[in-house]
Amino acid sequence: MRIAVAKETDPAETRVALTPDVVKRLVGTGAQVTVESGAGLAAGATDEAYREAGATIAGSRGEALSGADVLLTVRRPAAGGLEGLKPGALVIGVMDPYGKGAEIAELARNGASIFAMELMPRITRAQVMDVLSSQANLAGYRAVIDAAAEFGRAFPQMMTAAGTVPPARAFVMGAGVAGLQAIATARRLGAVVSATDVRPAAKEQVASLGAKFVAVEDDEFKQAETSAGYAKEMSDAYKAKQAELVASHIAKQDIVITTALIPGRPAPRLITTAMVKSMKPGSVIVDLAVERGGNVEGSKADQVVEVDGVKIVGYANVAGRLAASSSALYAKNLTAFLETLVSKETKELAINWDDELVKATALTRDGALIHPIVKPADA
Ligand code: NAD
Repeated sequence: MRIAVAKETDPAETRVALTPDVVKRLVGTGAQVTVESGAGLAAGATDEAYREAGATIAGSRGEALSGADVLLTVRRPAAGGLEGLKPGALVIGVMDPYGKGAEIAELARNGASIFAMELMPRITRAQVMDVLSSQANLAGYRAVIDAAAEFGRAFPQMMTAAGTVPPARAFVMGAGVAGLQAIATARRLGAVVSATDVRPAAKEQVASLGAKFVAVEDDEFKQAETSAGYAKEMSDAYKAKQAELVASHIAKQDIVITTALIPGRPAPRLITTAMVKSMKPGSVIVDLAVERGGNVEGSKADQVVEVDGVKIVGYANVAGRLAASSSALYAKNLTAFLETLVSKETKELAINWDDELVKATALTRDGALIHPIVKPADA
């Protein structure tokens, strides 16, 4: 089996799909790995490190893709990014598939079978393949570090001979994987932390990390979790009650980290400009949902916007700001999935298209759209 890793086609992407230690393991199991020169540099992985791990270095994308059975990628390659890949080859990565059927069909034109890692079911067997969790966990940590760097005050309470510095007050909105890590990180730095979510299960998790839970706990809240464990989109009436509660709470906060997402939908708007303006000058908001439309009115991708002295930080690829760590975990997620597609005897690809992991993630098979998320309704 020949595995290819090419430079990400998005120049802003710092992560790489395989790290040298994972390459070494794959080569040890008999796979051949080709890495395009420079693909890992932004994540601290040099061509030399890949070579030492047993990979072949290709001088161009075309050379890396030529003859590959599998292309591993972080993001969906740009249009034309699969030129040179042989028909039937697999492409595995984060594909951002919602509403992108046409782009994905065009990409798979040469007969590629494309898999979207973010659609992996959150079942025990697939935990090791859960790229949403591995990346969100690091993003939650980094969001607090970014907030601390922008904040002109200390996080912990400090009692000194020259006086006492009060602890920062941090509020985390959305207590999923990223939010829980943000709570833990802000607590470690010494902030007084509160958090909110629409899923009742989050209440206990927030409390277990030593943070205060703040939420509208009505009948709708009690049923806000889908069977897959995600949040539902809330009604306008709930949103209005939530906004009222948040408005009074937020005015007393120094740091706000927003992480709220709903799969396949734009991010819910949780903070209005009026709420931003109610905060003290010097306060910092980090909007982790900026790439999906943002939880905060006025947040802009890859910018720090200032509104009446309040900074709104909107880095688009926060996991990519820890490229070495996020690539290391991502590479393990990918190879764990790849192992399920390979025969233990022949070490060659042997895909069981009825496997629930394959069914959940396969967008195209040999070039044809097969997943309900991307398939036209009448196809
Ligand atoms: P996510 O990234 O989709 O969303 C982040 C958080 O935002 C979620 O907790 C969600 O409830 C919250 N949210 C959505 N709308 C909101 C609103 N209007 N106001 C406030 N909060 C809002 O979620 P995630 O981090 O991927 O996790 C979703 C769930 O899946 C969690 O229960 C998590 O513990 C669970 N999970 C399970 C596994 C597993 O293997 N079983 C793995 C990872 C996560």
